[in-house]
Amino acid sequence: MGTLAALLKKHTLWVGFLAVLLPLLVMLGVQFVWLARLEQVSAIAQKVTHNNYLEAIGTEVQFYYRSTAERALNIPATLFVQKRLDEVAMFWKKKPVEGVRRLFLVDFTRDPYGNYLVFDADRAELYAFPASDEALAIIVACTPWQVLSYRHGVAQSPAVRVDERNPEFRLILNPITDDASHVVGVAGMVLDEGFFKTQILPAVIKKALPVFFPGGGADAMGVTVRDATGHLVVAKGEEPGEGDDARDPPATARFPFVLTDWTMSLRGPGTTPEQGARANFAFNVTLSVLLAGVLMSGIALALRAANRAVRLSEMKSDFVSNVSHELRTPLASIRVFAELLRLGRVQSSEKIQEYGEYIEAESRRLSRLIDNILDFARIESGRKEYRFVPTDLRDVVDGTLRTFEAHLRHSGFRVAFEGIDGALPPAEIDQDAIGQALHNLLDNAVKYSGDSKEIEVRLGREGDELVVSVRDHGIGIARAEQQKIFDRFHRVGTGLVHEVKGSGLGLSIVQHIVQVHGGRIVVESEPGKGSTFSIRLPLGRRATGGAASAEVASAGPAGAGSRSEG
Ligand code: ADP
Repeated sequence: MGTLAALLKKHTLWVGFLAVLLPLLVMLGVQFVWLARLEQVSAIAQKVTHNNYLEAIGTEVQFYYRSTAERALNIPATLFVQKRLDEVAMFWKKKPVEGVRRLFLVDFTRDPYGNYLVFDADRAELYAFPASDEALAIIVACTPWQVLSYRHGVAQSPAVRVDERNPEFRLILNPITDDASHVVGVAGMVLDEGFFKTQILPAVIKKALPVFFPGGGADAMGVTVRDATGHLVVAKGEEPGEGDDARDPPATARFPFVLTDWTMSLRGPGTTPEQGARANFAFNVTLSVLLAGVLMSGIALALRAANRAVRLSEMKSDFVSNVSHELRTPLASIRVFAELLRLGRVQSSEKIQEYGEYIEAESRRLSRLIDNILDFARIESGRKEYRFVPTDLRDVVDGTLRTFEAHLRHSGFRVAFEGIDGALPPAEIDQDAIGQALHNLLDNAVKYSGDSKEIEVRLGREGDELVVSVRDHGIGIARAEQQKIFDRFHRVGTGLVHEVKGSGLGLSIVQHIVQVHGGRIVVESEPGKGSTFSIRLPLGRRATGGAASAEVASAGPAGAGSRSEG
């Protein structure tokens, strides 16, 4: 249980990330399945729409001819019986019938074989049919009724009928029956194909399109009508090219009432319903994935920030315990030495001096530590102020080494100082701050030297920069850590370092100070061989703002030159 909690705590970022990622992946999966289904359904729906559209055209055409036939061909049987067929001519003259090549009547009351009469629109009269293919088509079509009339049979369900046996003469016929359901005649018309092609069909196609394909989609639709021989009769929009049909089979349908041997077809804009649905699907999936990506990045960022905050607070509590220890250890030894002196147990004046020096050095160290903490607080709150004055850097280095000397001697360290011949140009620096930075580097060199007791301090000039470097032969720093050690509170967490107490503030303060001077701090280090920290300050104009950051140079301690003991 405990280990699980520890594991969760250690990998908060990943746990949080997975806690969001898993449900999100499930959601994406479900959405994918739904979108895939929607893709299928929408392809079917599009096909249905295409078929419905063609059906609507057929219905519309049927409606036109049915209503025309009912208006023009519903002749009362009494006009046949009372020989008043001239009135029919007057009626047809008064209400002209559109879309018809010829109107005709067949009268079985006058002649049992049928008296065939054609309507002459100009003279508004009926006249006997001259022999022709058209007359033959009409006779053939009317024969069943003629036979029925001849036999005085009863018409079972007299209704408007279409006869297209001869495609040249497409007929709509209405049998006229008397009260006893005997057929007394036939009223009929021959369709005008030209009128159908040029007037009715284009109008119907155009009227139905926006209903089925709203929002501009209608313009992209291609409609074609072909006759029984496959000859193109009417085309709206792009005419389908050769080979198109294999890629994109159009929806097709027949006319239901007249012209039943003609075919209409409808084609979408370049893409099939399946392609359209697939494009839709791809778009939706991409959108979902993008949204999920954005969401995940946001969450990752938030979790990272949270993780950092947690780490920082852990570091801070480590800091408190480390600093307490750092304060307590020198205080304890100061107290012991002071007690020894007070009780007069120490007789030799050399020992007294040594203990005194020790107390002094330890209290200096304590002041430095407190200075570091106070400085850190000032830097964090932006209240740290610097006083830049032209200074000889050598004075600062000498001064710092002097105050450090007793501490070094007590710890058994030897410091080699390598200076530069001749005068250094004065640099505009804050003496106390640079002294403190150097002090922090020396302090680290002592703390992390391990068994080695050699430290080298070098002061020199390289191009436009003044360089102060502190080199030790201690435990060194792994490459992966070399950037991080400059972060506040960061301490390398392995090996010897555990035993060496520290606040984790020293290098972050050094970096801040150096950056404020427009310079940079460079570390060269190799684990087990030692480290060299170099403060590089620009000569001449000081560039404030701290744009420069810590640099990590190639591993390995820097080369040594001539030295003099310090
Ligand atoms: P600390 O108070 O822990 O010394 P610093 O900021 O001065 O804090 O240093 C940060 C970390 O960098 C140290 O904890 C240590 O791990 C590493 N470090 C600093 N100087 C050296 C050095 N000269 N040799 C090896 N490791 C070093």
